[in-house]
Amino acid sequence: MNYMLGLRCIKCGKEYQAAPGVYTCPRCGPVAGILDVVYDYQKIKNNHSRQLLAASEDYSMFRYSAFLPLNPKTPRPHLRIGWTPLYRPPGLAGALGFQNLYIKDEGQNPTASLKDRASAIAVIRAVEEGATTIACSSTGNAASSLAGNAAAMGLTAYIFVPGRAPQGKVAQLLIFGANVISVQGSYDDAFRLSAQAIERWGWYNRNAATNPYLVEGKKTVAMEIAEQLNWEVPDWIAVSVGDGCTIAGVWKGFRDLYRVGWIDKLPKLLGVQSSGCSPLVDSFLENRPWRPAEENTIADSIAVGVPRNPEKALQAVKESGGTMVAVSDEDILDAMRLLGRTSGIFGEPAGVTGLAGLRYLAGNGVIGSGETIVAIVTGNGLKDVQNAIAAAGEPIRIEPSLEQLVKELKWRGLD
Ligand SMILES: *Cc1c(COP(=O)(O)O)cnc(C)c1O
Ligand SMILES: [Zn+2]
Repeated sequence: MNYMLGLRCIKCGKEYQAAPGVYTCPRCGPVAGILDVVYDYQKIKNNHSRQLLAASEDYSMFRYSAFLPLNPKTPRPHLRIGWTPLYRPPGLAGALGFQNLYIKDEGQNPTASLKDRASAIAVIRAVEEGATTIACSSTGNAASSLAGNAAAMGLTAYIFVPGRAPQGKVAQLLIFGANVISVQGSYDDAFRLSAQAIERWGWYNRNAATNPYLVEGKKTVAMEIAEQLNWEVPDWIAVSVGDGCTIAGVWKGFRDLYRVGWIDKLPKLLGVQSSGCSPLVDSFLENRPWRPAEENTIADSIAVGVPRNPEKALQAVKESGGTMVAVSDEDILDAMRLLGRTSGIFGEPAGVTGLAGLRYLAGNGVIGSGETIVAIVTGNGLKDVQNAIAAAGEPIRIEPSLEQLVKELKWRGLD
């Protein structure tokens, strides 16, 4: 059963019937007029419970399908999306001085990032609407996840990426058989060209901010965190921010659970960007409207100079009573190293930026050392090996001789 009532504009509040092609509020325009999916929470509450959920054997994001805008009869990708592990690595907690620090490892999704949660919704909705071709522009992970999920559903994909997208992600696109258009320009250029092409050919639109259903997929990460913590809501969720859809999705997930009474508090959100591209952090900290920014960061997934979902993201952080910080690319590389060495988890630069923000705040009193914190690692480090090597350094290169090895290890103090 689908509990969706319709769509509501986050700016003017006008409600719309869900229909193919209805993505944004015509009154407020495609940037301000983002639509939000509205559900019949009373009905969800009547028909579902935490106990019923505990009996579910669906260990994927679809265990929360009561909260998703999908027809239960539509086929789904056969991939296992979601139900990623929530770890509590002791070494990492010690290194940061937070006693109750968890990592939600979204790198374990089928195409190795949190974006699979949104792309799954996109391909299912596309099939529901009778589309056979789906398109998006992306800094990389939305693209690779769309390509993978489209392949799983037998859809054709057109993907627009900025020229700087890391090779690992481009390789994923090509392997999944997408038509890959590498736009020699910024993410903004790729986004605008994709919008024109979608209009021109009438493809199904997976652009995250524009398509109101995708955030609904992203919110399942919050639902999992709550369930995995036995419905004890953490004090803080730390997550990286690009367009702003992910953090808005996290907020919606907790709010939905609160609405149906499955949790009794909401977490504070820590939104983190790279100081090389921090339009939303700057807006938040200086309490002014956001302005377009340069895209100068190694964290390609959040190198978004013109965010597509700024209002929902800023609203989420403010409503939660949380905060935002910007960290340097050095801090991000440090966080990659620290996470890898203390926990065996490999995050891409944007994947660990939330953690880098936590580390930045450690000890300054904003977050208490005893508070419960979940850092979402949003993407896997194998997608961007070049930056991983930049973070971690080169291997010890020697001739195949034990004598050499003895000498080398001694010299490095490793014997
Ligand atoms: C897309 C992405 C983000 C940020 O999500 P937004 O919705 O753009 O804010 C963070 N980390 C990774 C790995 C991503 O792919
Ligand atoms: Zn509106």
